[in-house]
Amino acid sequence: MKKPVNRVIMTVILLSIITSLCSCNGQYYAKGKVKMDIQTKPFGKADGKNVDLYTLANANGLRMKVMNYGAIVLSLEVPDKTGKIDDVVLGFDTLEEYLKGHPYFGAIVGRYGNRIGKGKFTLDGVEYQLAVNNGPNHLHGGLKGFDKVVWDAVPVTQDDAVGVKFSYRSKDGEENYPGNLDATVTYLLTNDDEFKIIYSATTDKATPINLTHHSYFNLAGQGQRDILDHKLIINADLYTPVDEGLIPTGQLKHVKNTPFDFREPYAIGDRIANDNRQLKYGGGYDHNFCLRNGGGGGLTLAVSVYEPTTGRVMEVYTTEPGVQFYSGNFLDSSNVGKGGKVYKHRYGFCLETQHFPDSPNKRHFPTAILKPGQIYSHITAYKFYSK
Ligand code: BGC
Repeated sequence: MKKPVNRVIMTVILLSIITSLCSCNGQYYAKGKVKMDIQTKPFGKADGKNVDLYTLANANGLRMKVMNYGAIVLSLEVPDKTGKIDDVVLGFDTLEEYLKGHPYFGAIVGRYGNRIGKGKFTLDGVEYQLAVNNGPNHLHGGLKGFDKVVWDAVPVTQDDAVGVKFSYRSKDGEENYPGNLDATVTYLLTNDDEFKIIYSATTDKATPINLTHHSYFNLAGQGQRDILDHKLIINADLYTPVDEGLIPTGQLKHVKNTPFDFREPYAIGDRIANDNRQLKYGGGYDHNFCLRNGGGGGLTLAVSVYEPTTGRVMEVYTTEPGVQFYSGNFLDSSNVGKGGKVYKHRYGFCLETQHFPDSPNKRHFPTAILKPGQIYSHITAYKFYSK
């Protein structure tokens, strides 16, 4: 009778020894036990400029690697329900692989993230023609958007967070956008286990601006499998249906009785193969959801994602009116990422907080025009825990 009980006790003791040992080298969640840290090292060159790699660690052992090329997040390590830490974003090990081209892994996209129909808009009576780099449309800032430039960067240390402040001057006429735009993006890894992004910009001529972050998440760990089991709640009653080129038609459609209703939790895969024209256009989900707070209610919970096998949860808070939910439909095994992992179809998803796509051409959408004297500002936080 006694033996099995002893075995259980021994196993528990052994497991707790292993766990406490692991927490020392950062492999396991160590609530409040680790010193916050930020390390900088040279990572190569792009455009003749130095690129640095920053490794951030919070007081609980979460770690994040970022670089000033594209303000890219290379890795983000968060615990599962057993405390085990794993990397939950797609990316590469070296700068060279990023320079070869990729679908915006972990980058800041801009000056105008997402699409502008036919790359055209009119502002103050002048028609602007931007690069057409996605079928007939403009995507993510053009041929050389903010994801492909070297930002200036300084490490940031606060009482409860470490981070990096990136700044970039996008010159008047760059990618044909009007005005000198001075943008800053601060990444913080907080002791509340959030990856927080604070965006700010000013301009000297009216310009469209729509900065967002383009990490591909997989809460089961990068490169393991697809994301179809992840359960989502999106706090949106409306979404913006699109045409074949993924440009919003201008309608705001209710999500009720459609596969876009995530007001109650649904797995991404539950309805992705439904016979629905919108899903066909996107090859899955690639749509803007109009958040209930409409961008006017401060930092508000927009999306919650739960991965059942690891128990990881990611909550997305934002001050923006919309979020693009993209289910990694164009991932096709052509990218071999960190540790030789092949990124197959739907191995990651993005939640890009934003103004609605094509808003420069849709007057009834919240405006994405920044004027001289105004300050563009936007905060988004991705918060992690497990259950
Ligand atoms: C877009 C997708 C696109 C992806 C990578 C997303 O933001 O909505 O259509 O394929 O970025 O380029």
